[in-house]
Amino acid sequence: MFTQFMLISLACLGICIPVCVAATKRTMPITVEDAKVLWTLHKQNSRCRCKNWSLLKPKKDKVNGFICECGFKYTQKKPIIS
Ligand SMILES: [Zn+2]
Repeated sequence: MFTQFMLISLACLGICIPVCVAATKRTMPITVEDAKVLWTLHKQNSRCRCKNWSLLKPKKDKVNGFICECGFKYTQKKPIIS
């Protein structure tokens, strides 16, 4: 029983990790200035009055979005070319 559970868990991880990696790869880095502009736009669009926000940094030198104090999360994604 326990072994089966372990195998299922491992199988799930095996599926989840590549999916997560693929999702991360689809995000596009933006500059801090871009994030600031986007946050200002979010505040205007949703009449958000929050004063705090933080940058989403998957890597030290890369920004790919921001998260607002209100819970709004923005991630820059590459446009899908079909
Ligand atoms: Zn907000």
